[in-house]
Amino acid sequence: MPVRATKRGDERTPLEGRHDVLICGASFAGLAVARELAGSGADVMVVDRYEIGERQTSACGIPTDWLRATGLMAAERQRFYSLLIHTPHGTTRFRLPWSFSTFDYRELCKLLWRDCDARFETAKVNGRTSAGDSGEISVETDRGVLTAPLVVDALGWRRMLAAGDGYQPPDAPLSRGLEVHPSGGGEEMEIWIDRRYVPAGYGWSFPARDEVRIGIGSFDPRFHVRETTELLASDLGRDRVRYQGNWIPHKLRTATEGGVFFVGDSAGHCLPLTAEGIRTALHFGVVLGRELRAVIEGGSTRERAAAAYSEFNDSHEWKFRWMLRVQRLIPRVPPRLLAPLLRLCGRRRFVEWSFGHYLRIAPPPEGAPRSASDQQRADEEQDQAEQPLGGQRDLVEAE
Ligand SMILES: Cc1cc2nc3c(=O)[nH]c(=O)nc-3n(C[C@H](O)[C@H](O)[C@H](O)COP(=O)(O)OP(=O)(O)OC[C@H]3O[C@@H](n4cnc5c(N)ncnc54)[C@H](O)[C@@H]3O)c2cc1C
Repeated sequence: MPVRATKRGDERTPLEGRHDVLICGASFAGLAVARELAGSGADVMVVDRYEIGERQTSACGIPTDWLRATGLMAAERQRFYSLLIHTPHGTTRFRLPWSFSTFDYRELCKLLWRDCDARFETAKVNGRTSAGDSGEISVETDRGVLTAPLVVDALGWRRMLAAGDGYQPPDAPLSRGLEVHPSGGGEEMEIWIDRRYVPAGYGWSFPARDEVRIGIGSFDPRFHVRETTELLASDLGRDRVRYQGNWIPHKLRTATEGGVFFVGDSAGHCLPLTAEGIRTALHFGVVLGRELRAVIEGGSTRERAAAAYSEFNDSHEWKFRWMLRVQRLIPRVPPRLLAPLLRLCGRRRFVEWSFGHYLRIAPPPEGAPRSASDQQRADEEQDQAEQPLGGQRDLVEAE
């Protein structure tokens, strides 16, 4: 059983006060914003209902370059240079033009937090209180009201600090995902596009050194994924233990509303089709953090930061729309055609072109700090990446 670190009972003392920046949500998006504010001199308060890193929110897979560029390589657990895609009519191996890593959630959050100089408190956010004349925003938590002129909602798909609550499953553009985390190892990063598991969506198995993250994601929020998550785990001979699941937004939303800044899943920053939402949460979090820092340092105002961040957010809209189109298209492809289609898409030049574009939707930030151990690791990886995969450089039909 994990140790519960979150304050309970008498330890939950009243929490009230004013801060320069209030960041609600201490996962990928919230911590990325807080990290960008370190050293700015701002009084930054971060709140989350759980202790930092206490509750894993995903399978924790990310392009390796993102870990490297953000100085987070120490959290890496396993690396993959190819992806196996299974369909009922065949399995195809894609050799990836860039590697993908799984990481340890707790460790990654710890590393992000290590670079912050903010305060942290566990508190459950209930919503906004009505806005005052001062332009300050007040947020009600289960421990009291917190106020700040700059408020960030990094609370996930519920978008708690928005006006109104017209975004509820199953009618909202949300996918659903559930996974189990059995102990044990594995060599391959694998995906299943198979209606036996999910009519519209996919299954996955992501090894992470000493555990495997096996799950099902359904683009249709009405499809319940528990039974088929268990089916996939049992087909793979793995234990059905340590469940983790959530709704996953698959549509970009407005980045600001009523003076609040939204980032990560609360702004719909998770990519449609792949449900990759970690690097996008970090990507938008870094940009938002830099905008807020400019306000703190006097070079910008909240309104200018809101305009710039919204513009940046909206410039991604067509990319998200295209990904959503493909998400809707794939379930319509007859299963018999999927395997030959994947083989076609697996040609080296197409893989490099498509995966290159995909990475550039949220490219690793440039100029981020790199520690000496990260540098050494990078050199070793380069050597490894240059070795041919099983003697084949192109796509191979695996089994
Ligand atoms: C099963 C599954 C597997 C996934 N696998 C991957 C993957 O391998 N790679 C990938 O890129 N993406 C993956 N995703 C998507 C990814 O998890 C999200 O897009 C990502 O976590 C978004 O980050 P975030 O910081 O915006 O929100 P979250 O990570 O959801 O964090 C929100 C934070 O807000 C806190 N919070 C929520 N409500 C309150 C409240 N009322 N009061 C106080 N605190 C609150 C939560 O405790 C949490 O810490 C997966 C999703 C699921 C469901």
